Amino acid sequence: MASVPTFALPPSFLGITRRDPEAAFCIAGIPFDLGTTNRSGARFGPAAIRQASRMLVDGDHPHWWIDPAALPVADIGDFAIALGDIPQSLALIEAQAARIGHLIALGGDHTVTLALLRAAAKRHGGPLALVHVDAHVDTWPDNFGQPYGHGSVFYHAIEERLVDPRRMVQMGIRSPMRKDIYDWTVGKGVTIVTAQDVHEHGPAAVAGQAAAIVGDAPAYLSFDIDALDPAFAPGTGTPEIGGLTTWQAQAILRQLEPAQFIGMDVVEVAPPYDAAEITALAAATVAWEYLALVGARQSRGYPTVR
Ligand code: MN
Ligand code: MN
Repeated sequence: MASVPTFALPPSFLGITRRDPEAAFCIAGIPFDLGTTNRSGARFGPAAIRQASRMLVDGDHPHWWIDPAALPVADIGDFAIALGDIPQSLALIEAQAARIGHLIALGGDHTVTLALLRAAAKRHGGPLALVHVDAHVDTWPDNFGQPYGHGSVFYHAIEERLVDPRRMVQMGIRSPMRKDIYDWTVGKGVTIVTAQDVHEHGPAAVAGQAAAIVGDAPAYLSFDIDALDPAFAPGTGTPEIGGLTTWQAQAILRQLEPAQFIGMDVVEVAPPYDAAEITALAAATVAWEYLALVGARQSRGYPTVR
């Protein structure tokens, strides 16, 4: 039988050819890495994630038994950014995200999430619940004197009331950090689940904890690929050892079925430091897991929020 092999599909996410932003789910890349504080390169993340995603098109998801590529999903290409200008880029990204219903964003460094949360909170009329998977809390008030950057995303998201810190959980945390920043974060009501917590208690326990925290509020998923151990995600700007394995991340995502997700991003894939597409494939699979999860929720009759 002659057919197009997976590696020769169009270089879009999952080889999707649909491009219209009216689709129920939209994939967009955000090729921005000006907010990195260590190794840059995440501007090349969207292309690498799309390239690797074509490994995932030859069957149904083996837990949810749906094919994410068969959902009403479009790949609308990459967002425009203002090269060299962080605040202007944030404004541009927010304006583009505001036109999309349910957005799955491929980063880009973590700075972009602030713009995505601004758009999502406005759309849903108030602070969102948040599942934030990361090695870092990203609640620093600034980045080496710059107000906006990938380490201060959730400081601003909390201060701007884009997220409700009492309905916010951070999972995989383990980096060196300042104690006063840790205390500020916890003091706001954020639940921190360390990587060690995941290792000691297991994915089911921490996913159950996360689902209870977000409850039935509109929830956003922000997945920094450096939550994974560098063995599973070497291609990232600020790697930290002792992280999650890919199977742990998959198991956690699959057990977040109760959460009412309205959007997600996967960020910080920096292909120049990747090896054998390990990191790009991990990120593509996280987005694919997410699509399968929200698609399965829809087919099981959960209320849909756009
Ligand atoms: Mn991080
Ligand atoms: Mn981060």
